[in-house]
Amino acid sequence: MKRKIKKVLVANRGEIAIRIFRACSELGIRTVAIYSDEDKNSLFRTKADESYLVGKNKSPIEAYLSIDEIVNLALNKGVDAIHPGYGFLSENPEFARKCKEVGIEFIGPDYKVMEKLGDKIQSKLVANSVGVPTIPGVEKAVTSEKEAIEFANYCGYPVILKAAAGGGGRGMRVVEDEKDLLDEYHSAKNEAKKAFGIDDIFIEKYLEKPKHIEVQILGDKYGNIVHLHERDCSIQRRHQKVIEYTPAFSITEEEREKISNDAIKIAKAVNYSSVGTVEFLLDKHGNHYFIEVNPRLQVEHTVTEMVTGIDIVQSQILVAEGHTLDSKEIGIKNQDDVNIRGYAIQCRVTTEDPLNNFAPDTGMIDIYRTGSGFGIRLDGGNGFTGANISPYYDSLLVKITAWSRTFEDATRKVSRALREQKIRGVKTNIPFLINVLNHEDFTNGKCHTGFIADNPELFD
Ligand code: ADP
Repeated sequence: MKRKIKKVLVANRGEIAIRIFRACSELGIRTVAIYSDEDKNSLFRTKADESYLVGKNKSPIEAYLSIDEIVNLALNKGVDAIHPGYGFLSENPEFARKCKEVGIEFIGPDYKVMEKLGDKIQSKLVANSVGVPTIPGVEKAVTSEKEAIEFANYCGYPVILKAAAGGGGRGMRVVEDEKDLLDEYHSAKNEAKKAFGIDDIFIEKYLEKPKHIEVQILGDKYGNIVHLHERDCSIQRRHQKVIEYTPAFSITEEEREKISNDAIKIAKAVNYSSVGTVEFLLDKHGNHYFIEVNPRLQVEHTVTEMVTGIDIVQSQILVAEGHTLDSKEIGIKNQDDVNIRGYAIQCRVTTEDPLNNFAPDTGMIDIYRTGSGFGIRLDGGNGFTGANISPYYDSLLVKITAWSRTFEDATRKVSRALREQKIRGVKTNIPFLINVLNHEDFTNGKCHTGFIADNPELFD
């Protein structure tokens, strides 16, 4: 069944809200922004056709989590679809269900699929059920100290404790030694309860120096699913991605194919529709293990768009309207139709001070000059001369993505664009990003997830 979407509300802020407004405008769809009181002077709200204040008496974060208020606003303003972006309510099945109940299209997977995949333990079970390898670990939440000790002894240290409901690199603790296990177990439970409202913790083997490889998937509402190839997101700090690129040239063709096929298997197992990402870790022997599915648009979707030429956000909207992948609107006949060209690298410029342990910096931006030129794409939202960087939100200021024919050229290009980017008034991580790009391990594709921690000279 097809239903033309005429008006989209974006339940998000900053760069991703702007990214989605742009996709909508190009499709002839009217856009609605919501904003918190804290964001009343933020740029993103001026990029929508209409904008409304939400969460008047709530905290700056809570404002964007006000499910009932947002759904009611959408109903009152004649909105027929809501895009949740990433973060905030994007992985909240209750929000998706409420939208559906009132006849508003939620631009994302079905809430039942979100329920199945939102919990990291459940999603590992899905992977196991279709023969996709997962990291050895307990298959249910650990319920006692005894269970935690038994499992850690069984698989050997180091182990990682994870919050079943975790996300954004939070709620994870690596335990090197038995003496720390119980303390960490209780702290992890408390932390999970505070951050996610659920204190289910599970344990798995901690892989040493793996690569993080993920696969972008896109499915329509009729069971057709393709992958848009993989991304290498191994450059991480504290389990959070800093630089992402595609293709993952340092792994073999055979590994790439196996990983992509496994991503499709998992997507098919839950009859996935919309865009999503299936994440894997790859150990130094080339074995890959599924870790989780992100049932939403991701920060790093830009690099995939650059090499495939597919607008992921527009495809997501068109799928939500009921178009098939092979429709003339989306135009992907089958998997062989998804070709890639060249290399793309994305750097996340944040308002963090690398010389002060990446402490977030805030205040007024006095000077904001952007890097640009052939092959450079900027996705920003909070950065301009005179903008005020608030302490309440994510410190992502702008994403700089470069495309070029070779990886070496793309590296040089993104590095050049970073040097052109002049930001004064608040500290940024730009010097750190340039140091990473200049490192020979980066150029050679040798980076694993421990690369930044192993090379403190990158902060200088
Ligand atoms: P989140 O949902 O918080 O992003 P993920 O499960 O996706 O958490 O993991 C984020 C990162 O944490 C991975 O990319 C990897 O660097 C690290 N990580 C997670 N599980 C393991 C593991 N078992 N062994 C080693 N590193 C891990």
